[in-house]
Amino acid sequence: MTSTPNREGTAPVTSAQRILVLNSGSSSVKYQLLDMRDHSRLAVGLVERIGEQTSRLVHSPLTDGGEKRERTGPIADHEAALKAVAEELARDGLGLDSPELAAIGHRVVHGGLKFSAPTVITEEVMAEIERLVPVAPLHNPANITGIRTAQALRPDLPQVAVFDTAFHTTMPESAARYAIDVETADAHRIRRYGFHGTSHAFVSRETAKLLGKDPSEVNVIVLHLGNGASATAVRGGACVDTSMGLTPLEGLVMGTRSGDIDPAVTFHLERVAGMSTDEIDVLLNKKSGLVGLCGDNDMREIRRRIDEGDQRALLAFEIYIHRLRKYIGAYYAVLGRVDAVVFTAGVGENAAPVRAAAIAGLEELGLVVDADLNAVRSDAARLISPEYARVAVAVVPTDEELEIARQTYALVNA
Ligand code: AMP
Repeated sequence: MTSTPNREGTAPVTSAQRILVLNSGSSSVKYQLLDMRDHSRLAVGLVERIGEQTSRLVHSPLTDGGEKRERTGPIADHEAALKAVAEELARDGLGLDSPELAAIGHRVVHGGLKFSAPTVITEEVMAEIERLVPVAPLHNPANITGIRTAQALRPDLPQVAVFDTAFHTTMPESAARYAIDVETADAHRIRRYGFHGTSHAFVSRETAKLLGKDPSEVNVIVLHLGNGASATAVRGGACVDTSMGLTPLEGLVMGTRSGDIDPAVTFHLERVAGMSTDEIDVLLNKKSGLVGLCGDNDMREIRRRIDEGDQRALLAFEIYIHRLRKYIGAYYAVLGRVDAVVFTAGVGENAAPVRAAAIAGLEELGLVVDADLNAVRSDAARLISPEYARVAVAVVPTDEELEIARQTYALVNA
């Protein structure tokens, strides 16, 4: 862990070794149970479409002889979902009542400025997460529900919040502030917070490891390219700039989000197209990005269409790459010296053509991708630049659940 944990609550030092990681969305819960002695996964799963008739729980025990199980049928709310998860874990001898369970780590999307490190959850912490709902209306309410439900199931157990925003709290004011009226900004807590921080922290540290260096010695540009996408400039282990802002809408072109846009587009849509604020919100968050440009948000499908000569898919790809290259250039200038550019998440880890196009023609910046290394498919962290290159280009698979578990475990054992 790079930062000092916030010990808001008192977590007893524990000899138990298991951590349950919960990632609660508005209609889903993803979970993993990890053994922190060797970071192995004991079970993984998800509940989706909570609150609908067609809810589904998929549970995979990863212990010897365990088999993937699936349940379908209505699961009314998060409480019912977590109870169902607890039942499945119990069937594998991994129940939540086990003395082996040390803590539950929750992914919390927005921690504002107050939370720069993982935090043991108390009522004061809950009140602060609640206070941030206006700046994270889609995410924090679901996270709060997940925490409340887990607390009800195991009130005696430490519950830890790991914030998506925490890694970015080191950003200087020059990067974090928008150039708008300061009083208005401060009154409404408008500033750039950044997201995907758990992933950027994990990947930047693993990249340093790949280079055989300490994180404090390296400057890295991390490109987290999933359905949501963000870029981060990391200097000596600390974030100095990131592409997402007040919300996860700013920055790169994403699966369904526009990323950077002239803010006047929104007034224009209101005044000229007669759209409501909610309609514009849906347009920019759900119907833009790759899906808005070409109808598909899956990079595999876009590449397939390009191979068939589809011009709309090609233009969407080119817009996506153009924005990505702008951020690489911008963060190169922010950092001054770059040791590595690293690709991660679904697109970054798997889409070789994206990596090749993002780096093409940047030899003058010391950036080169080796076509053969780039074509290798692997789950391992790896370099895709030739040995002679001045700046490393790498692919480092992200693992947000492991990072949440590590931070949670470190905090309850601190
Ligand atoms: P994530 O949000 O990190 O789970 O990433 C999901 C996205 O990764 C999908 O929407 C796809 O666009 C992309 N993706 C996943 N697998 C591949 C693949 N084999 N090739 C290209 N893109 C992929």
